[in-house]
Amino acid sequence: MAGPLPSPATGRALLAWYDVHRRDLPWRAAPGEVSDPYRVWLSEIMLQQTTVAAVRSYYAAFLDRWPRVNDLAAAEDGEVMAAWAGLGYYARARNLLACARVVAVSGFPATREGLRALPGVGDYTSAAIAAIAFGEPAVVVDGNVERVVARLTRLARPPKAARRAVEAAVEAMLPADRPGDFAQAMMDLGATICTPKSPACAICPLLHDCAAARHGEAAAYPVKAPKKARAVWRGAMFVPVRPDGTVLVRRRPERGMLGGMVEVFGSPWAAEIGDAADHAPFAAAWTAAGSITHTFTHADLTVDVFRADVAAETAAPAGGWWADPAAAGLPTVMKKAVTRALAMAEG
Ligand code: SF4
Repeated sequence: MAGPLPSPATGRALLAWYDVHRRDLPWRAAPGEVSDPYRVWLSEIMLQQTTVAAVRSYYAAFLDRWPRVNDLAAAEDGEVMAAWAGLGYYARARNLLACARVVAVSGFPATREGLRALPGVGDYTSAAIAAIAFGEPAVVVDGNVERVVARLTRLARPPKAARRAVEAAVEAMLPADRPGDFAQAMMDLGATICTPKSPACAICPLLHDCAAARHGEAAAYPVKAPKKARAVWRGAMFVPVRPDGTVLVRRRPERGMLGGMVEVFGSPWAAEIGDAADHAPFAAAWTAAGSITHTFTHADLTVDVFRADVAAETAAPAGGWWADPAAAGLPTVMKKAVTRALAMAEG
Protein backbone atom coordinates (compact mmCIF):
# COMPACT_ATOMS: atom_id res chain seq x y z
CA MET A 1 0.00 0.00 0.00
CA ALA A 2 1.53 3.34 -1.01
CA GLY A 3 -0.73 5.70 0.97
CA PRO A 4 -1.36 5.71 4.72
CA LEU A 5 -4.12 3.58 6.17
CA PRO A 6 -7.42 5.51 6.28
CA SER A 7 -8.52 6.60 9.75
CA PRO A 8 -11.79 6.38 11.73
CA ALA A 9 -12.25 10.04 10.77
CA THR A 10 -12.55 8.94 7.13
CA GLY A 11 -15.29 6.53 8.14
CA ARG A 12 -17.13 9.26 10.01
CA ALA A 13 -16.86 11.63 7.06
CA LEU A 14 -18.37 8.94 4.88
CA LEU A 15 -21.27 8.41 7.30
CA ALA A 16 -21.97 12.14 7.48
CA TRP A 17 -22.23 12.17 3.70
CA TYR A 18 -24.41 9.05 3.73
CA ASP A 19 -26.85 10.61 6.18
CA VAL A 20 -27.59 13.28 3.60
CA HIS A 21 -27.05 11.53 0.27
CA ARG A 22 -28.00 7.89 0.86
CA ARG A 23 -29.76 6.23 -2.06
CA ASP A 24 -33.40 5.52 -1.43
CA LEU A 25 -33.59 1.78 -2.16
CA PRO A 26 -36.72 -0.29 -1.50
CA TRP A 27 -34.88 -2.87 0.61
CA ARG A 28 -33.29 -0.30 2.88
CA ALA A 29 -34.72 0.46 6.31
CA ALA A 30 -35.49 4.12 6.94
CA PRO A 31 -32.88 5.97 9.03
CA GLY A 32 -33.09 4.79 12.63
CA GLU A 33 -35.18 1.71 11.77
CA VAL A 34 -33.94 -1.88 12.18
CA SER A 35 -33.41 -3.73 8.92
CA ASP A 36 -35.43 -6.87 8.22
CA PRO A 37 -32.99 -9.75 7.53
CA TYR A 38 -35.38 -11.28 4.98
CA ARG A 39 -35.42 -8.08 2.90
CA VAL A 40 -31.68 -7.59 3.18
CA TRP A 41 -30.99 -11.20 2.25
CA LEU A 42 -33.46 -11.22 -0.68
CA SER A 43 -32.01 -8.01 -2.11
CA GLU A 44 -28.40 -9.09 -1.66
CA ILE A 45 -29.01 -12.39 -3.47
CA MET A 46 -30.79 -10.57 -6.31
CA LEU A 47 -28.03 -7.96 -6.54
CA GLN A 48 -25.30 -10.55 -7.08
CA GLN A 49 -24.06 -9.86 -10.65
CA THR A 50 -27.19 -7.78 -11.31
CA THR A 51 -27.77 -4.03 -11.33
CA VAL A 52 -29.98 -2.14 -8.89
CA ALA A 53 -32.16 -1.01 -11.81
CA ALA A 54 -32.79 -4.61 -12.92
CA VAL A 55 -33.49 -5.83 -9.39
CA ARG A 56 -36.08 -3.24 -8.31
CA SER A 57 -39.17 -4.71 -10.00
CA TYR A 58 -38.25 -8.32 -9.13
CA TYR A 59 -37.69 -7.40 -5.52
CA ALA A 60 -41.06 -5.68 -5.36
CA ALA A 61 -42.82 -8.62 -7.02
CA PHE A 62 -41.21 -11.19 -4.70
CA LEU A 63 -42.03 -9.20 -1.60
CA ASP A 64 -45.57 -8.67 -2.76
CA ARG A 65 -46.11 -12.36 -3.38
CA TRP A 66 -44.01 -13.76 -0.52
CA PRO A 67 -43.92 -11.07 2.20
CA ARG A 68 -42.11 -13.25 4.75
CA VAL A 69 -39.44 -15.90 4.46
CA ASN A 70 -41.95 -18.58 5.51
CA ASP A 71 -44.18 -17.67 2.56
CA LEU A 72 -41.27 -18.07 0.19
CA ALA A 73 -40.25 -21.37 1.80
CA ALA A 74 -43.75 -22.73 1.19
CA ALA A 75 -43.78 -21.77 -2.51
CA GLU A 76 -43.59 -24.34 -5.29
CA ASP A 77 -40.17 -24.57 -6.94
CA GLY A 78 -41.70 -23.87 -10.36
CA GLU A 79 -43.45 -20.73 -9.13
CA VAL A 80 -40.24 -19.26 -7.77
CA MET A 81 -38.25 -20.17 -10.87
CA ALA A 82 -40.92 -18.54 -13.04
CA ALA A 83 -40.91 -15.39 -10.90
CA TRP A 84 -37.11 -15.28 -11.19
CA ALA A 85 -37.18 -15.71 -15.00
CA GLY A 86 -35.28 -12.90 -16.71
CA LEU A 87 -33.04 -12.09 -13.75
CA GLY A 88 -30.41 -14.63 -14.83
CA TYR A 89 -27.96 -16.84 -12.93
CA TYR A 90 -30.68 -19.31 -12.07
CA ALA A 91 -28.59 -21.17 -9.50
CA ARG A 92 -29.39 -18.17 -7.30
CA ALA A 93 -33.12 -18.92 -7.44
CA ARG A 94 -32.59 -22.57 -6.51
CA ASN A 95 -30.34 -21.53 -3.62
CA LEU A 96 -32.82 -18.85 -2.62
CA LEU A 97 -35.51 -21.45 -2.15
CA ALA A 98 -33.19 -23.92 -0.41
CA CYS A 99 -32.05 -21.15 1.92
CA ALA A 100 -35.62 -19.96 2.63
CA ARG A 101 -36.57 -23.50 3.64
CA VAL A 102 -33.66 -23.74 6.09
CA VAL A 103 -34.42 -20.30 7.53
CA ALA A 104 -38.16 -21.04 7.83
CA VAL A 105 -37.28 -23.83 10.26
CA SER A 106 -34.44 -22.30 12.26
CA GLY A 107 -34.58 -18.54 11.61
CA PHE A 108 -31.85 -16.32 10.17
CA PRO A 109 -28.52 -16.87 11.93
CA ALA A 110 -27.46 -13.55 13.47
CA THR A 111 -23.73 -13.91 12.81
CA ARG A 112 -21.63 -13.76 9.68
CA GLU A 113 -20.34 -17.26 10.33
CA GLY A 114 -23.83 -18.68 10.71
CA LEU A 115 -25.08 -16.88 7.62
CA ARG A 116 -22.11 -18.11 5.62
CA ALA A 117 -23.32 -21.69 6.11
CA LEU A 118 -26.64 -21.01 4.30
CA PRO A 119 -27.15 -22.14 0.68
CA GLY A 120 -26.05 -19.48 -1.81
CA VAL A 121 -24.63 -17.14 0.85
CA GLY A 122 -20.93 -16.49 0.25
CA ASP A 123 -18.28 -14.33 1.92
CA TYR A 124 -19.57 -11.02 0.69
CA THR A 125 -23.29 -11.70 1.18
CA SER A 126 -22.84 -13.08 4.70
CA ALA A 127 -20.80 -10.02 5.70
CA ALA A 128 -23.32 -7.64 4.15
CA ILE A 129 -26.32 -9.23 5.91
CA ALA A 130 -24.46 -9.50 9.23
CA ALA A 131 -23.54 -5.81 9.09
CA ILE A 132 -26.80 -4.40 7.72
CA ALA A 133 -29.39 -6.60 9.45
CA PHE A 134 -27.58 -7.56 12.65
CA GLY A 135 -25.14 -4.71 13.28
CA GLU A 136 -22.08 -6.98 13.30
CA PRO A 137 -18.92 -4.96 12.55
CA ALA A 138 -18.19 -7.23 9.58
CA VAL A 139 -15.78 -6.08 6.89
CA VAL A 140 -17.85 -5.98 3.70
CA VAL A 141 -15.80 -5.97 0.51
CA ASP A 142 -17.32 -5.93 -2.95
CA GLY A 143 -16.05 -4.43 -6.21
CA ASN A 144 -17.14 -0.93 -5.19
CA VAL A 145 -15.29 -1.15 -1.89
CA GLU A 146 -12.18 -2.52 -3.58
CA ARG A 147 -12.15 0.43 -5.95
CA VAL A 148 -12.68 3.06 -3.26
CA VAL A 149 -9.99 1.58 -1.01
CA ALA A 150 -7.53 1.16 -3.88
CA ARG A 151 -7.88 4.88 -4.59
CA LEU A 152 -7.90 6.05 -0.98
CA THR A 153 -4.64 4.20 -0.32
CA ARG A 154 -3.05 4.17 -3.80
CA LEU A 155 -2.96 0.42 -3.51
CA ALA A 156 0.01 -0.77 -5.54
CA ARG A 157 -1.44 -4.19 -6.35
CA PRO A 158 -4.71 -5.35 -7.91
CA PRO A 159 -7.25 -5.47 -5.02
CA LYS A 160 -8.00 -9.16 -5.53
CA ALA A 161 -4.31 -9.90 -4.96
CA ALA A 162 -4.21 -7.68 -1.88
CA ARG A 163 -7.29 -8.88 -0.03
CA ARG A 164 -5.75 -8.46 3.44
CA ALA A 165 -4.64 -4.89 2.71
CA VAL A 166 -8.12 -3.98 1.48
CA GLU A 167 -9.74 -5.50 4.56
CA ALA A 168 -7.25 -3.73 6.84
CA ALA A 169 -8.13 -0.40 5.25
CA VAL A 170 -11.86 -1.01 5.66
CA GLU A 171 -11.33 -2.12 9.27
CA ALA A 172 -9.38 1.07 9.97
CA MET A 173 -12.36 3.19 8.86
CA LEU A 174 -15.19 1.05 10.20
CA PRO A 175 -17.29 2.81 12.86
CA ALA A 176 -18.21 0.06 15.34
CA ASP A 177 -21.56 1.68 16.18
CA ARG A 178 -22.89 1.85 12.59
CA PRO A 179 -21.38 -1.02 10.58
CA GLY A 180 -24.49 -1.51 8.44
CA ASP A 181 -24.72 2.13 7.44
CA PHE A 182 -20.98 2.18 6.78
CA ALA A 183 -21.24 -0.84 4.44
CA GLN A 184 -24.10 0.78 2.56
CA ALA A 185 -22.30 4.12 2.48
CA MET A 186 -19.28 2.51 0.83
CA MET A 187 -21.57 0.88 -1.73
CA ASP A 188 -23.27 4.21 -2.42
CA LEU A 189 -20.03 6.11 -2.73
CA GLY A 190 -18.67 3.52 -5.19
CA ALA A 191 -21.91 3.53 -7.19
CA THR A 192 -22.47 7.28 -7.38
CA ILE A 193 -19.21 9.22 -6.78
CA CYS A 194 -16.15 6.98 -6.92
CA THR A 195 -17.29 5.32 -10.12
CA PRO A 196 -15.01 3.13 -12.24
CA LYS A 197 -14.38 5.48 -15.18
CA SER A 198 -14.89 9.05 -14.01
CA PRO A 199 -14.71 9.50 -10.24
CA ALA A 200 -16.28 12.80 -9.15
CA CYS A 201 -13.48 13.69 -6.73
CA ALA A 202 -14.49 17.35 -6.53
CA ILE A 203 -17.72 16.45 -4.70
CA CYS A 204 -16.39 13.40 -2.82
CA PRO A 205 -16.63 13.47 1.00
CA LEU A 206 -13.31 11.62 1.19
CA LEU A 207 -11.36 13.96 -1.08
CA HIS A 208 -9.07 15.21 1.69
CA ASP A 209 -8.25 11.65 2.82
CA CYS A 210 -7.66 10.23 -0.64
CA ALA A 211 -4.10 9.48 -1.69
CA ALA A 212 -4.92 8.90 -5.36
CA ALA A 213 -6.90 12.14 -5.67
CA ARG A 214 -4.11 14.05 -3.97
CA HIS A 215 -1.73 12.82 -6.66
CA GLY A 216 -4.26 13.51 -9.40
CA GLU A 217 -4.29 9.81 -10.24
CA ALA A 218 -7.74 8.61 -9.24
CA ALA A 219 -8.45 6.96 -12.57
CA ALA A 220 -5.16 5.02 -12.42
CA TYR A 221 -6.53 2.92 -9.55
CA PRO A 222 -7.33 0.13 -8.93
CA VAL A 223 -4.19 -1.29 -10.55
CA LYS A 224 -5.22 -3.94 -13.04
CA ALA A 225 -4.01 -7.52 -12.88
CA PRO A 226 -1.56 -8.25 -15.70
CA LYS A 227 -3.07 -10.20 -18.52
CA LYS A 228 -2.14 -13.85 -18.33
CA ALA A 229 0.49 -14.87 -20.87
CA ARG A 230 -0.99 -17.04 -23.58
CA ALA A 231 -0.03 -20.67 -23.42
CA VAL A 232 1.87 -22.18 -26.34
CA TRP A 233 0.85 -25.75 -27.09
CA ARG A 234 2.12 -28.32 -29.52
CA GLY A 235 0.32 -31.38 -30.79
CA ALA A 236 0.41 -34.16 -33.37
CA MET A 237 -2.56 -35.45 -35.38
CA PHE A 238 -2.76 -38.57 -37.51
CA VAL A 239 -5.03 -38.86 -40.51
CA PRO A 240 -5.22 -42.33 -42.03
CA VAL A 241 -7.10 -42.23 -45.35
CA ARG A 242 -8.87 -45.22 -46.92
CA PRO A 243 -9.28 -45.47 -50.72
CA ASP A 244 -12.89 -44.27 -50.46
CA GLY A 245 -11.69 -41.03 -48.85
CA THR A 246 -12.93 -41.84 -45.34
CA VAL A 247 -10.67 -40.94 -42.42
CA LEU A 248 -10.35 -42.29 -38.90
CA VAL A 249 -12.06 -40.28 -36.14
CA ARG A 250 -13.11 -40.65 -32.50
CA ARG A 251 -15.03 -38.62 -29.93
CA ARG A 252 -13.32 -36.36 -27.39
CA PRO A 253 -14.13 -36.80 -23.69
CA GLU A 254 -17.24 -34.91 -22.56
CA ARG A 255 -15.31 -32.71 -20.17
CA GLY A 256 -12.56 -30.30 -21.20
CA MET A 257 -11.80 -28.41 -24.39
CA LEU A 258 -14.03 -29.25 -27.36
CA GLY A 259 -15.77 -31.68 -25.02
CA GLY A 260 -17.78 -34.36 -26.84
CA MET A 261 -16.69 -33.18 -30.31
CA VAL A 262 -15.39 -35.48 -33.05
CA GLU A 263 -11.61 -35.43 -33.58
CA VAL A 264 -8.86 -37.21 -35.44
CA PHE A 265 -6.47 -39.32 -33.41
CA GLY A 266 -3.46 -37.57 -31.96
CA SER A 267 -1.47 -36.42 -28.96
CA PRO A 268 -2.70 -34.30 -26.06
CA TRP A 269 -1.97 -30.56 -26.51
CA ALA A 270 0.85 -29.43 -24.27
CA ALA A 271 4.08 -27.44 -24.14
CA GLU A 272 5.95 -30.66 -24.86
CA ILE A 273 4.53 -33.79 -26.46
CA GLY A 274 7.69 -35.91 -26.84
CA ASP A 275 7.92 -38.21 -29.86
CA ALA A 276 4.88 -37.63 -32.11
CA ALA A 277 5.00 -41.25 -33.33
CA ASP A 278 4.00 -42.43 -29.85
CA HIS A 279 0.53 -40.97 -30.45
CA ALA A 280 -0.27 -42.72 -33.76
CA PRO A 281 -3.43 -44.88 -33.68
CA PHE A 282 -1.60 -47.81 -35.30
CA ALA A 283 1.60 -48.64 -37.15
CA ALA A 284 1.49 -47.40 -40.77
CA ALA A 285 3.64 -45.55 -43.32
CA TRP A 286 3.06 -42.15 -41.75
CA THR A 287 4.25 -39.17 -43.74
CA ALA A 288 4.60 -35.65 -42.41
CA ALA A 289 2.00 -33.41 -44.08
CA GLY A 290 3.18 -30.14 -42.54
CA SER A 291 1.67 -28.27 -39.66
CA ILE A 292 -1.40 -26.20 -38.89
CA THR A 293 -1.97 -23.54 -36.27
CA HIS A 294 -5.07 -22.70 -34.29
CA THR A 295 -5.83 -19.96 -31.78
CA PHE A 296 -7.89 -20.75 -28.68
CA THR A 297 -8.97 -18.16 -26.12
CA HIS A 298 -5.98 -18.77 -23.86
CA ALA A 299 -3.54 -20.68 -26.04
CA ASP A 300 -1.88 -20.88 -29.43
CA LEU A 301 -1.70 -24.40 -30.80
CA THR A 302 0.65 -25.72 -33.49
CA VAL A 303 -0.02 -29.24 -34.71
CA ASP A 304 2.18 -31.47 -36.85
CA VAL A 305 -0.08 -33.46 -39.17
CA PHE A 306 0.72 -36.95 -40.43
CA ARG A 307 -1.01 -38.89 -43.16
CA ALA A 308 -1.02 -42.55 -44.16
CA ASP A 309 -2.89 -44.15 -47.04
CA VAL A 310 -4.32 -47.41 -45.74
CA ALA A 311 -6.18 -50.40 -47.17
CA ALA A 312 -9.99 -50.42 -47.40
CA GLU A 313 -10.23 -53.25 -44.89
CA THR A 314 -8.17 -51.46 -42.21
CA ALA A 315 -10.02 -51.86 -38.91
CA ALA A 316 -10.70 -48.87 -36.66
CA PRO A 317 -9.01 -49.15 -33.25
CA ALA A 318 -11.09 -49.06 -30.06
CA GLY A 319 -13.21 -45.92 -29.83
CA GLY A 320 -12.66 -44.97 -33.48
CA TRP A 321 -14.68 -45.15 -36.68
CA TRP A 322 -14.21 -44.29 -40.35
CA ALA A 323 -16.07 -41.22 -41.50
CA ASP A 324 -16.51 -38.96 -44.48
CA PRO A 325 -14.56 -35.91 -43.24
CA ALA A 326 -17.06 -33.51 -44.81
CA ALA A 327 -19.94 -35.02 -42.83
CA ALA A 328 -18.21 -35.99 -39.57
CA GLY A 329 -19.00 -32.80 -37.65
CA LEU A 330 -15.34 -31.95 -37.10
CA PRO A 331 -14.55 -28.73 -35.22
CA THR A 332 -12.42 -26.16 -37.01
CA VAL A 333 -9.04 -27.23 -35.71
CA MET A 334 -9.70 -30.84 -36.78
CA LYS A 335 -10.96 -29.72 -40.19
CA LYS A 336 -7.70 -27.83 -40.67
CA ALA A 337 -5.68 -30.95 -39.89
CA VAL A 338 -7.72 -33.17 -42.22
CA THR A 339 -7.62 -30.57 -45.00
CA ARG A 340 -3.84 -30.40 -44.68
CA ALA A 341 -3.51 -34.18 -44.79
CA LEU A 342 -5.78 -34.52 -47.82
CA ALA A 343 -4.11 -31.60 -49.65
CA MET A 344 -0.82 -33.42 -49.36
CA ALA A 345 -1.93 -36.22 -51.69
CA GLU A 346 -3.22 -33.77 -54.23
CA GLY A 347 -0.06 -31.68 -54.07
S1 SF4 B 1 -11.55 11.47 -3.90
FE1 SF4 B 1 -12.00 10.62 -5.89
S2 SF4 B 1 -10.78 8.76 -6.01
FE2 SF4 B 1 -10.81 9.37 -3.88
S3 SF4 B 1 -12.48 8.20 -2.99
FE3 SF4 B 1 -13.33 10.17 -3.62
S4 SF4 B 1 -14.07 9.86 -5.73
FE4 SF4 B 1 -12.77 8.15 -5.19
